Amino acid sequence: MSTFRFNAVERASNRKAVPALVPDRKVSDFFGENVFNRKAMKKYLSKETFRLLTEAIDNGTPIDREIANHVAAGMRMWALEKGVTHYTHWFQPLTDGTAEKHDAFVEHDGNGGLIEEFSGKLLAQQEPDASSFPNGGLRNTFEARGYSAWDPSSPAFIVDDTLCIPTIFIAYTGEALDYKTPLIRSIEALNKAAKEVCDFFSLEVNKITTFLGWEQEYFLVDEDLYSARPDLSLTGRTLLGHESAKNQQLDDHYFGSIPTRVQEFMKDLEIECYKLGIPVKTRHNEVAPNQFELAPIFEECNLANDHNQLLMSLMKRVAEKHFFRVLLHEKPFMGVNGSGKHCNWSMATDTGINLFSPGKDREDNLLFITFVVNTLMAVYKHNSLLKASIASATNAHRLGANEAPPAIISSFLGTQISEVLDRFENSSIEDAIEMDSKKRLYLGFGQIPEILLDNTDRNRTSPFAFTGNRFEFRALGSSANCGVAMLAVNSAVAYQLQQFKEEVETRCKKGKSKQEAIYEVLKAYIKESKPIRFDGNGYSEEWKQEANKRGLDCETSVPLQYDAYLLPESIRMFEATKVLNEKELHARNEVKWEIYIKKVQIEARVLGDLSMNHITPVVLRYQSSLLDNLTKLKETFSEGEYEDLSTEPRRLVRKIGHHICAVTRMVDDMIEARKKANRIQDLRERAIAYHDTVSPYLNEIREHIDDLELIVDNQIWPLPKYRELLFIR
Ligand code: ADP
Ligand code: MG
Repeated sequence: MSTFRFNAVERASNRKAVPALVPDRKVSDFFGENVFNRKAMKKYLSKETFRLLTEAIDNGTPIDREIANHVAAGMRMWALEKGVTHYTHWFQPLTDGTAEKHDAFVEHDGNGGLIEEFSGKLLAQQEPDASSFPNGGLRNTFEARGYSAWDPSSPAFIVDDTLCIPTIFIAYTGEALDYKTPLIRSIEALNKAAKEVCDFFSLEVNKITTFLGWEQEYFLVDEDLYSARPDLSLTGRTLLGHESAKNQQLDDHYFGSIPTRVQEFMKDLEIECYKLGIPVKTRHNEVAPNQFELAPIFEECNLANDHNQLLMSLMKRVAEKHFFRVLLHEKPFMGVNGSGKHCNWSMATDTGINLFSPGKDREDNLLFITFVVNTLMAVYKHNSLLKASIASATNAHRLGANEAPPAIISSFLGTQISEVLDRFENSSIEDAIEMDSKKRLYLGFGQIPEILLDNTDRNRTSPFAFTGNRFEFRALGSSANCGVAMLAVNSAVAYQLQQFKEEVETRCKKGKSKQEAIYEVLKAYIKESKPIRFDGNGYSEEWKQEANKRGLDCETSVPLQYDAYLLPESIRMFEATKVLNEKELHARNEVKWEIYIKKVQIEARVLGDLSMNHITPVVLRYQSSLLDNLTKLKETFSEGEYEDLSTEPRRLVRKIGHHICAVTRMVDDMIEARKKANRIQDLRERAIAYHDTVSPYLNEIREHIDDLELIVDNQIWPLPKYRELLFIR
């Protein structure tokens, strides 16, 4: 009897819901109370410091040491009043999640005692001993220094007893070692490029803000069941497990009523989010059993990404109180839907125009078409890069399954916008564009209905879909840092807008009117970017063939997908927008390949261990009991009867023997494949070897063991089964 498994199952099924601690105040009363937001700044900073700091936040003006000192003093006072004892620079290294090193506020007071200190120097910059963060060779061991530097645009916040200061993380020599630095650079590039295009339309715009609204999917599993599955604990997914007879086929989980235990978890999580200023709004059951989603109201892109990072760590903490473990892995369970993270992306002017909103008047509509078409062009030209930006060892299990977009980037616009673009393409300039006496440009033909937002037909299979007033990038994995994909989108669109501007200006120099020039360039773009537009079923086999014909990137190997970062056009684009230089791109790819290798390597080790130490001994024991049975049958019955009665046990013994031999052989072969791959020096080549020669064993071994799960006595099967893991009572 597998007591370990049964104890875990019993504890999990007897677990009572842990009531959430709901404050008896309205959300608006405690929203952001643990954030050094404008309200706190106003209270704890002098008028002048407040003014300079908010100017830095809004317009990126530099902050000198003296202001930093004042800000630090105010922050310290605010934090101490809230019982905070430590502070940390909070940053996003090129691994999963965030990094922090806590220091207490205390310093010697010179009289043998201690005082609470926090200077502008400590606020502005730190040197975490960062030699063990991945850096792709940007820092050798002699120069292991990396700096974290304060990002004033994202407010400091308190978790537990610690003041967390969002920071960027860069090498001593200035290269980015994190996700935040290039994200901020890309937001700036987009601001600049989009502003210049707005100038064509005589708009008085000072700033373009990029917005991000993410939707986070996740699974919950009971803590005891999680601990009884070494694969879940060590790799985040189940490497074994036969499908449950019932999973999601009845569609009874999606939007169904949320189990009480989960509901209490969600309440606690939301309260923690509100205190930290994360404006969470939506919660619901997702498609797979035990799968849920949480989404906030969209925010400025850099802040929204910080909030998503913070949310992912909050979830893990809050889950513990409820005896749950959160699975952020993209595909924790085979045979049921995986988890993604949709990124809703848009841009708006400081004058309140959403550049992806078809406006009330005809002028706005041409502006709208300009931004939509340039975005399409960017997605078209950089479709391999965008795919690389969402590629990971873990997300690969989800993409292309019958639930998530394939590993091909395309864009869905909906019939209305598609029709407008088609009409534009076939129009004459007189039809398409008009200009009024004030020399403002209009979209001459037709109107785009204002109510588009509610009207857009939805295409859930599209990786990059227009959804009424924004684009939704749906190919991201649930565990991803949204910054990686957002910085690729921002930079590609910024670069595209730069080119649009140049092309329009070149035509103007050749004597065309601005009106003609814009018309011609947009018309050419609509034609050129056509292959990226796809309104059909992205899950279908036909689309893969069609996409191939259209010349879209259809590569499915993750290590090869990363090559897109180093294509000449990618390097040119990233350098022109000043988001990443060639050296950084190479270094970051080394990190990506290395992480890929390690993830597959860990899975291979865990599966080897499970196969040989957990599964095989139990299966052989069961086989012995069958052999025992055969001996006893033989002793008991006559030859003829024995032949008859032993057919089934003999068949089982053989079947088990066949599976166990296959498993044992493949585990050995997998070790050999790893050894061989490990001898390859070049990281890219090694990652390819892991993809081509190691990872196929993971599925093959699994198939045999999952078959065994159906044969072997349930009483002795050592690992909690899918039906036990997947249904929270
Ligand atoms: P659905 O599941 O239908 O896509 P949700 O309501 O779950 O819709 O999520 C929509 C997300 O899009 C939310 O995070 C929302 O705040 C965000 N969003 C809405 N409008 C915009 C916009 N203009 N820019 C960016 N994000 C937006
Ligand atoms: Mg969505």
